[in-house]
Amino acid sequence: MPDQQPDQQQLPQARPAVDRLPAYRPGKGAAQAEAEHGITNAIKLASNENPDPPLDEILAAVNAAAAGANRYADHRATALRERIGTWLGVDPAGVTIGAGSVGLLQQLFLTFVDAGDEVVYPWRSFEVYPVYTKLMGGVEVTTPLTAHHAFDLEALAAAITPNTRMVLLATPNNPTGTALRTSELRTLLGRISPTTVVVIDEAYREFLDPAFGDPVHELVPEFPNVVVTRTFSKAHGLAGIRVGYAVGHPDVIASIDKTLFPFAVNGLAQAAAIAAIDAIDLIQERVDRILAERARVIAALVDAGWSMPDAQANFVYLPLGDRTDAVYLELEKRGVVTRPFSNEGIRVTIGSEEQNTRFLATLAEVASPA
Ligand SMILES: *Cc1c(COP(=O)(O)O)cnc(C)c1O
Repeated sequence: MPDQQPDQQQLPQARPAVDRLPAYRPGKGAAQAEAEHGITNAIKLASNENPDPPLDEILAAVNAAAAGANRYADHRATALRERIGTWLGVDPAGVTIGAGSVGLLQQLFLTFVDAGDEVVYPWRSFEVYPVYTKLMGGVEVTTPLTAHHAFDLEALAAAITPNTRMVLLATPNNPTGTALRTSELRTLLGRISPTTVVVIDEAYREFLDPAFGDPVHELVPEFPNVVVTRTFSKAHGLAGIRVGYAVGHPDVIASIDKTLFPFAVNGLAQAAAIAAIDAIDLIQERVDRILAERARVIAALVDAGWSMPDAQANFVYLPLGDRTDAVYLELEKRGVVTRPFSNEGIRVTIGSEEQNTRFLATLAEVASPA
């Protein structure tokens, strides 16, 4: 062992693809904001989490599963896949699970994207898409959003070529909240090669107006190149336990499965997800409360003169442009932590009634509509 610090050149160097990666920036926590600004009582509306702790039924199932934590869990999560299959009315062979839907997205990249392959997605969208594309050495091809912060389907269709390996569509989109209808997706899919994987990221599906349609039932049977990803993190309130699922053609799912690192979805997570499905009526009541709060927040913002894109998820997006960083900071100093996208806008999670009321009052203090 050398007793001196090695100089930089003697350290192992990351792959160039990793060197170029931006670090994933999670939403700032309330405790961090309190420490930075010397305040108390901060609230976090930055990560689109559910404001309520997990249901008692779920906590009981997690507790029971914890008693078996000396054993490895079922790597294939057979019981959970079957439960998802019966719940959704699909063949369990077309269902897989992962460590949150970001785990599944990483598996999709590992499965399909080689160095030099083109990956197409509208931008701005979910922040892990560029990270994973860069990690694989893929080529990022992005299309701008429309003036209403929605996906530009013509631009997308033009950007997708036979060289496109994968297309990523978050609907509802993070951070803008806009969504695509299955009829729009079907038209787009008709223009995409069947060898191009099209990922429909439905992390916010439960908050979407059902009139937009259901890609699992309307698109997966028709298009074997479509994979729909969903999660228990947002509507089901299990962000901290890491479990999501994907639905697609059984052969595509079988390929994705090969990339799941052993026991990635632990037994507590599997038990929690099954308990969440068993208690889906109670989950729906909570979702309904969030939807009612979303409507109240939007009405108050519109009343105050703000305009914003169609909000189909559990957050609202205020396109503040070059005022973004300043408004974000003033909100944060007053204990309301939101998610800024520099020079574009802020994303504000719908929290509890009390938290939302505080956000509205604090926003009125720090900014007025342009
Ligand atoms: C929150 C989010 C996810 C994933 O969350 P997991 O906790 O990893 O399931 C996936 N996609 C989008 C667009 C999200 O906003």
